[in-house]
Amino acid sequence: MSTTAPRDPYEVLGVARDADDTTIKKAFRRLARELHPDVNRHDPDAEEKFKQAAEAYEILSDAERRATYDRYGHDGLRTGGQAPNFDGFGSISDLFDAFFGGAFGGGGASRTGPRQGDDVAVAAHVTLGEAYTGRQVEVAFEAIDRCEHCHGNGAEPGTPIETCERCGGQGILQAVTRSPFGQVVRQVACDRCGGDGRIAVQPCETCDGRGLVVGHRRLDVDVPAGIADGQRIRVSGRGHAGDRGGPPGDLYVVVQVEADEHWLRDGDDLVTAVDLAAPRAALGTTVEVDHPGEGPLTVEIPAGTQPGEVITIRGKGMPMLRRTGRFGDARLVANVIIPRRLTAAQRELLEQLAESVDGEQLRSDESVVGKLRRLFGK
Ligand SMILES: [Zn+2]
Ligand SMILES: [Zn+2]
Repeated sequence: MSTTAPRDPYEVLGVARDADDTTIKKAFRRLARELHPDVNRHDPDAEEKFKQAAEAYEILSDAERRATYDRYGHDGLRTGGQAPNFDGFGSISDLFDAFFGGAFGGGGASRTGPRQGDDVAVAAHVTLGEAYTGRQVEVAFEAIDRCEHCHGNGAEPGTPIETCERCGGQGILQAVTRSPFGQVVRQVACDRCGGDGRIAVQPCETCDGRGLVVGHRRLDVDVPAGIADGQRIRVSGRGHAGDRGGPPGDLYVVVQVEADEHWLRDGDDLVTAVDLAAPRAALGTTVEVDHPGEGPLTVEIPAGTQPGEVITIRGKGMPMLRRTGRFGDARLVANVIIPRRLTAAQRELLEQLAESVDGEQLRSDESVVGKLRRLFGK
């Protein structure tokens, strides 16, 4: 799937053709955050999307390459023999580190400063009825918290913290790595002090000197009415704790709407099938359907309803997300059933009926194609 035609980098990053460097950088960072592997562990497309974004950024962040692309498109870049190649990276996490681990963006970004915590993704299950009404769900997950015993500094309370000898208190070491952008000198966190520049003489007993602990959390999250399967709710600041005083990451709740026994969802519409005995379909009747959000619903079935015909009930579908007061429709597909076994009396009645029905009563204006469409639900 990585051999698809290259996409327009402006389109990938969602920026205008005359966007300035700051806008481009911002757009890339925002996109990269959305595609972060912690959030998208279950999305196989995320890696590919991130690669596309990285490639787009690689072109647009370089004035010369951007000018070449503007004039000649991707072909112009290819003739330069400079097509970027991200295959050397083992995983999307490595790719991320290459971009945000200090090799890129601003140059020489120190690891010793505050670092925002990572995002956390957690699944929440709701029924179709709950998706209809919206509800509060409790999610439980594990996230990194600041250690309360040492207040995050990693030292057993009352014991000293000394300057790291390995990095001289800088918290960073130089490392040369190869990347799609040639050899780059990366600044990596010191492996001795973990980037702090300082080491606790007696590490905190609770967190082993890390200053952070894994905590079990429970949180009530409002699932809005109308949510669809797979949609994510972002809860700001409820992800992993930040490092060295950095802000926490975000929590993403991925909502999974369970399949319903009786109703299918089609966009904002709800679809179900109703069984109708053939004589009832001919005579017209009322049926009761169990609506996932509103309970029993009485529906008029008009006389002469044909197999596969759809009865639409306006406004009885799913509520539209973020469009208060608006709903999709409910669609009932008539499943007309011909009786398979007949008593002698019924048989006689049907024979009489068959004799009496004439061609004019069966005639309809529907074309053959129209009939097929109705029967196959197309
Ligand atoms: Zn601690
Ligand atoms: Zn160090």
